Amino acid sequence: MNRAVKEQILQKIQQYNTIMLFRHVRSDGDCVGATKGFKRILQLTFPEKAIYLIDAEISEYLSFLGPDDDEVADEVYAEALGIVIDTASESRISNKKYALCKELIKIDHHIPLESYGNIMWVEEERSSACEMIADFYATFRDVLKIDSEAATYIYTGMVTDSGRFKYEGVTGETMRNAAILLDVGIDTETLYANLYLDEYDYLKFKAHIYQAMQITENGVAYIYIDQAMRDNFGLSLEQASACVNSLDSIRGAICWMAFIENNDSEGSIRVRLRSRFVQINPIAEKYHGGGHACACGATVYSKDEMEALLRDADAFVKEYKQTHEGWL
Ligand code: AMP
Repeated sequence: MNRAVKEQILQKIQQYNTIMLFRHVRSDGDCVGATKGFKRILQLTFPEKAIYLIDAEISEYLSFLGPDDDEVADEVYAEALGIVIDTASESRISNKKYALCKELIKIDHHIPLESYGNIMWVEEERSSACEMIADFYATFRDVLKIDSEAATYIYTGMVTDSGRFKYEGVTGETMRNAAILLDVGIDTETLYANLYLDEYDYLKFKAHIYQAMQITENGVAYIYIDQAMRDNFGLSLEQASACVNSLDSIRGAICWMAFIENNDSEGSIRVRLRSRFVQINPIAEKYHGGGHACACGATVYSKDEMEALLRDADAFVKEYKQTHEGWL
């Protein structure tokens, strides 16, 4: 699929001596895995090229994948081909120096909110951006080189963004791409341990989440995390935000969300929205956000706005339930 645009991307990569990789703010397994994995493939294939992945944001959860590169001079950016992976809009690119790059390529699997870059390869039906990187490797495997380090990075994003190959976007193609990576060699026991073991104290926090969660009349489950709760359990924003996944298996609650106080001067509250059967992204888009059909993010600026979002989501879910069958 999309062979022509992939060929254009490969040609651009071949033309440039310096390549820089970029990803989105609030990094996750997919954007970290895709950028690290693509970087590694390019390094192995083109050892003469300078390939950088520079990002000031550090995710504790993904620290087992190792650090990124140190900052370089602006002149290096100015000579480079920039490749932005897993990022729907320019405002969400984490390292703002992407704008210095000579040319830019966008590789993404989000619902497109805006166009940017000289070449765009967007496949919103892909379960992860990492799946696109695996597909890119598979398309040009007679030219590109891979090793188990690269395969592990890419597999990490495929696993995390697909909920361990559970979400609707997972296809036969996803599995064929995953199989190519597994054939290269991945220590999946260590990878899954790094990704999914919880600290003892974190499970106490989860117990609290189940005590404190609420549900709207028509089945929107939600939790509000304030600073006091985070202090109580000694959690970073990132750790606390992960709790949205704890609400994902309540029968009848086909939409669930976490509201997390950001503690900034605007009083903003991060919203993480998830759903099954119903596509909830219109609600995220109404509240300054976006993402995927069933996994998206938004921001609200007061408790009143949070209540408004919940009312909208509840009405949306009600309408879905009244007009569809088979949801659980
Ligand atoms: P999160 O809950 O932050 O993991 O977000 C779920 C998905 O939605 C991720 O793929 C994010 O990149 C995307 N997303 C989150 N917040 C926004 C936003 N404000 N605008 C556009 N996309 C977003």
